[in-house]
Amino acid sequence: MSVLVLAEVDGKTLKPSTYQAITAATYWGLAIDVLVYGKDLDAALAEASTISGVRQVLHAQADHLQHPLVEDVSDLVMTIASDYNVILTAHSVFGKSLLPGIAARLDTASITDVIAIEAPSHYVRPSYAGNILAHIDNHEDVQIVSVRSTAFRAAERNGNAQIVEISVPPSRAVSRWISEQLSHSERPELNSARVVIAGGRSLGEQFDSLLNPLAEKLDAAIGATRACVDAGFAANELQVGQTGTIIAPELYIAVGISGAMQHIAGIKDSKVIVAINHDPDAPIFKYADYGLVADLFSALPELNAALQ
Ligand SMILES: Cc1cc2nc3c(=O)[nH]c(=O)nc-3n(C[C@H](O)[C@H](O)[C@H](O)COP(=O)(O)OP(=O)(O)OC[C@H]3O[C@@H](n4cnc5c(N)ncnc54)[C@H](O)[C@@H]3O)c2cc1C
Repeated sequence: MSVLVLAEVDGKTLKPSTYQAITAATYWGLAIDVLVYGKDLDAALAEASTISGVRQVLHAQADHLQHPLVEDVSDLVMTIASDYNVILTAHSVFGKSLLPGIAARLDTASITDVIAIEAPSHYVRPSYAGNILAHIDNHEDVQIVSVRSTAFRAAERNGNAQIVEISVPPSRAVSRWISEQLSHSERPELNSARVVIAGGRSLGEQFDSLLNPLAEKLDAAIGATRACVDAGFAANELQVGQTGTIIAPELYIAVGISGAMQHIAGIKDSKVIVAINHDPDAPIFKYADYGLVADLFSALPELNAALQ
């Protein structure tokens, strides 16, 4: 009886979401093994072996896993799946792509985007853009689960797990990795930032020039609405919301954002929400702890000056 957590490696180290997935895995009270796959994994393995609550770190190394592809990782997981009662991963882009195929091959269901595990195999997950919380009892023999990272705290590091090498099946070569384009930023990452300042389409071409100085002063990540991204004022990866990144910062500042439910779905776990909008009836004010009814083109420079 044990739980398998599928880790994700970011360059050399584990992604923070792996720590949060391990916290979720502790709810069963079973032994936890972590599968770390890729190439040149020394740093990630050393890290994983010190995470509290982990029994074993399964080390799957192969050239073709340098840039892991869903089919190859799915094949790898299938070689050990029968040893586990629960297979769990973060609800990341990769986790989302991976789990349905594994569930299908095990002829079972996957429960995705879980925000709470209230008892072993009893899950809470949002639906309808977070307006409904579904409680699910899953009676399958194997539980295939992805968890929303912001809903779980990160596991601590005072463990000493054994590292065990496992064999890796050959690549299926049905798809291949070509290249990766990453945008580099000095700003904190959107999904783990303590402060996020986000803008809507009303910022227009001044999106960067108005938000950057404030983000700098507040050490904040920058976010955007989908309307703003669609209009080309902000990069795609800045989108916050139901179909963008889901965040839970300590402080969220919404500038010129109407407060559509698809946007709120991504921010409602923020600890403090501040809204600046010139329309006193904008829906965002229903969710805001602090609201400023003002024109953003004067309010932002004033705020910037006040923070000098
Ligand atoms: C399936 C689906 C998924 C979606 N997913 C997402 C998602 O992940 N994230 C997301 O954000 N949206 C998402 N949307 C879009 C969402 O429904 C809204 O259209 C979008 O959030 C609106 O963005 P906005 O607030 O920038 O624009 P608008 O709705 O146009 O609002 C602009 C706001 O700016 C205010 N404003 C204008 N000028 C000023 C000024 N000078 N000073 C101060 N305030 C000003 C206005 O009063 C208004 O409230 C999704 C929609 C669908 C259908």
